[in-house]
Amino acid sequence: MYNNSTKNPNHTQRKSITMPELLSMIVTYNGSGVKQCGSTYRVNCPAHGDRRPSMTIREANNGPILLYCHTGCTTQEICDALGIHISQLFPPKKVG
Ligand SMILES: [Zn+2]
Repeated sequence: MYNNSTKNPNHTQRKSITMPELLSMIVTYNGSGVKQCGSTYRVNCPAHGDRRPSMTIREANNGPILLYCHTGCTTQEICDALGIHISQLFPPKKVG
């Protein structure tokens, strides 16, 4: 049996952000580049007027994008600075 309902109108849920989208947002925000070290990216933290890259970004195996500022900004603060919602770092919930 096939389920034809491929479209899922999620009006309440915000659109998830992919890693490339997030990186381009941060590059636009900072006006500077991203350093990649394997699966981890290093960028200037948008939340505290960073002058050298002290925030790391990586994608967890199960989907969510993890943001970590070494000076102690919270994920919430970083999302606020970028104008995104923290829930957008999580992949869309799979139905079924
Ligand atoms: Zn920070």
